[in-house]
Amino acid sequence: MNKPENFEFKAEMKQLLHLIIHSLYTNPEIFIRELISNSSDALNKIRFRQLTDTNIIDANISLAINIQANKEDSSFSIEDSGIGMTKDELVNNIGTIASSGTTEFLNQLKAENSGKADINQLIGKFGVGFYSVFMVTDEVTIETRSSELNSVAYKWISCGENNFTIEESDRQTRGTKISFKLKEEYKKYAEEYNIEQAINKFSNFVDFPIYINDKEIKRVTAIWQLKKEDITDEQLDEFYKFISNDYQKPLSHLVLNIEGNINFKSILFIPETAPAALFRDVNESTLHLYVNRVFIQNDAKALLPDYLRFVKGVVDTEDLPLNVSREFTQNSPVMAKIKNVLTSRILSWIEDLAAKESDQFRKFYDNFSSLLKTGLYTDFANKNKIIDLLRFESTKTKENEMISLKEYVLRMKSDQKEIYYISGTSRELVENNPNIEYFKKNEIEVLFFTDPVDVFIIPYIDNYEEKLIKSIDKTDIDFSVNDKKTDENAEKNTEEKTGIISKFKEILKDKVEDVVVSKRLVSSPVSLVVGNTGMDSQMEKVMQMINKDFQSSKKILEVNVNHKLIENLNRIYNENNNSEILETAINQLFESVLLIEGQIKDPNEFVKRMIGFMTEATE
Ligand code: ADP
Repeated sequence: MNKPENFEFKAEMKQLLHLIIHSLYTNPEIFIRELISNSSDALNKIRFRQLTDTNIIDANISLAINIQANKEDSSFSIEDSGIGMTKDELVNNIGTIASSGTTEFLNQLKAENSGKADINQLIGKFGVGFYSVFMVTDEVTIETRSSELNSVAYKWISCGENNFTIEESDRQTRGTKISFKLKEEYKKYAEEYNIEQAINKFSNFVDFPIYINDKEIKRVTAIWQLKKEDITDEQLDEFYKFISNDYQKPLSHLVLNIEGNINFKSILFIPETAPAALFRDVNESTLHLYVNRVFIQNDAKALLPDYLRFVKGVVDTEDLPLNVSREFTQNSPVMAKIKNVLTSRILSWIEDLAAKESDQFRKFYDNFSSLLKTGLYTDFANKNKIIDLLRFESTKTKENEMISLKEYVLRMKSDQKEIYYISGTSRELVENNPNIEYFKKNEIEVLFFTDPVDVFIIPYIDNYEEKLIKSIDKTDIDFSVNDKKTDENAEKNTEEKTGIISKFKEILKDKVEDVVVSKRLVSSPVSLVVGNTGMDSQMEKVMQMINKDFQSSKKILEVNVNHKLIENLNRIYNENNNSEILETAINQLFESVLLIEGQIKDPNEFVKRMIGFMTEATE
């Protein structure tokens, strides 16, 4: 047997090892992930080589990872039948830092957080995952035999810090075994249960069987690595439940295999139901990120825009280093590219659902559209795709039926130039809003914006296919569409009918911006509308909810001078423009529209006046 040969680590390596050994760790169990990942790489290499080359030793042994752990003496070893290492490889691959120009970074790190270095960041920066074992042990032995015919086996031993030795070994089989004794404070990793936990967390989808003390551990298949047509529905359901903690089946799934300028495989799911707090639940796990089947994180937020965070699933890429840290994933251009691809694929997927599986789409929409809509003001690049996914009930849809803006435009009246909507808290409420009467009578479709977020998204849509989207609460509606009735009315709206308007102005001068003759009212006597720059009333309500001090702007009162009541008031006005009943009636009318809008501040006056009227009427 030869004598051990002594080697010294390079200066940078020494510094790094010093940091690893003397730092505090939040997650020491990642050494298991790193060792399994190295074994898995070595097994992948030999499997690949065997495809074309059978001139290797042990060509027929099975490809597997074996962990032996003994809690009596705290020993731990991991062995693979992978490609192994030659002596040169041992010296060059194990003893050096992958990236260069690191001294400065190391000094900086040392100065900044002595004793608190993030091990993930260290090994991510330097590509030295193997050294994470020095978190949990004082001395490591590597025994390895390369797959080359006639190869010699070697034993590498190091205590970290300064140097390592290499000598020949009597190992016979191909592959690598790494063994060590766990430090007292980490001896729990010699227990099968804790090892299995770590494997379940990080290495569930490694492509080779893993044994702990000769028992194979059960794992879920990495189904995203299978061919799309080979994945069964049962597998999909099982996998979805595994990653989402949902007990139900998913509503829909999407399998992606992206190759080219960015490479990743992914399976995505839309859940059947929304979480209880869709908007608040920002910490929900969303996408699980894997690098070459090795688990990185279960809430890779940087992979999805916020408005799509209801999507669950997995992304596995070879374009990231294994040891990416959280900070890294947040700023990585690779992550950003994956996010772009995912976003556009998800939106197309939903579009597809809408076109082909309307029931599924409707469920999706009921559950997640409020969140999806927020994308309109955060994701300008995909705004048009999101707009096309919007659906609304309208004056022409049956209860519960919904249409898209595209459908709206298709069935617009030939001379209609604008898209109309009304917002409010429920279909029933908006359908009874007096401002809608004109549109109903003239069969002009009005969309119902009954989702509270709708009023916020409107400013971001503005127009669709060059048609302005307008609230029918506003004054500047184009009343020329298909409307002979209004023209006839206009002729009838002569001065003798409109004298009462000046009385309205006099009585309500502090409460409204203006009083005008209405073109839109059919059966109601009065209604409130907003000036062109004002917010519609639903939006004001939401603003008041958010900010107690929010001052609503003054409205414009529209008066239907063809309504019987207004005609009567006008007649009284022409006889005696100071008649007391005029003031009471005008105030009552004004407050009745406030009441409908839920804006009445003090109902007492209103009720008193009403009782007065009823008393008179019954005398
Ligand atoms: P990384 O895996 O990020 O390259 P490591 O420090 O973990 O960095 O490993 C350094 C190198 O050592 C690997 O790239 C590989 O060439 C070699 N190596 C480590 N473990 C094994 C193993 N079990 N079998 C064969 N080679 C290995």
